[in-house]
Amino acid sequence: MAHTNFSDLLEKGKLKRLGIMGGTFDPIHFGHLVTAEHARESFNLDGVLFIPTGNPVRKKQSGVTDKELRFKMVELATEANPHFEVSRIEIDRPGDTYTVDTLRELKTIYPDEVDLFFITGADAILDLLSWKNTHDIGEMASFIAATRPGWDINVAKQNYELEQIQVDICYLEVPALAISSTYMRQRIKNRKSVRYLTDEKVTNFIFDHQLYMS
Ligand code: NAP
Repeated sequence: MAHTNFSDLLEKGKLKRLGIMGGTFDPIHFGHLVTAEHARESFNLDGVLFIPTGNPVRKKQSGVTDKELRFKMVELATEANPHFEVSRIEIDRPGDTYTVDTLRELKTIYPDEVDLFFITGADAILDLLSWKNTHDIGEMASFIAATRPGWDINVAKQNYELEQIQVDICYLEVPALAISSTYMRQRIKNRKSVRYLTDEKVTNFIFDHQLYMS
């Protein structure tokens, strides 16, 4: 099947509901891919645009892998799915990366008739109130919060701060999110196999570039 071209869908008026898959993806794994696919299916999304974070503000201390390498891994992992595309929006934008800036940029590309659904990990969303311009974010997109097995949804439902903000949040339980980027990095560092945790092309890329070895 030909690769879905979102601009084509847009021109034909067939792009009504677009998923925005935000994450550091260091590295991308099957948990992320299953999340995007299940979100697409469950929320009737016309496509999912992966947006690897450029310069995540909160990870300055811990450090992340070079953004071009993370971007390439996302490209390799998603290229086989005609409903997925990858965006360089955050990779190319200089300075600290904030979701509000990304959504503003997307709003200049996609008309108001296209509903945006920001998909990411439920843990990331728990502290949404501390993100830059949360109110504006809530006006531009709904959230799909992916939860890992064992994640207690009541933690979010009883989160007083989340109740205060006008943001539409739906939860999506994703069993495959038992895999995490941290788990993958640890396994690679300990010289353990990561086969079957991510796409083989990503595994090969990781080893070709000697990522996460130390
Ligand atoms: P994170 O804090 O590294 O991740 C929190 C949890 O969510 C982790 O368990 C992570 O698992 C999971 N996760 C992250 N992205 C996911 C995805 N797309 N699907 C499923 N699970 C996911 O989160 P992050 O990657 O830095 O940030 C997530 C998104 O929120 C990014 O787009 C980021 O730019 C945005 N964000 C924006 C602000 C702001 O604008 N101020 C602040 C924080 C985050 P893995 O480690 O396995 O991915």
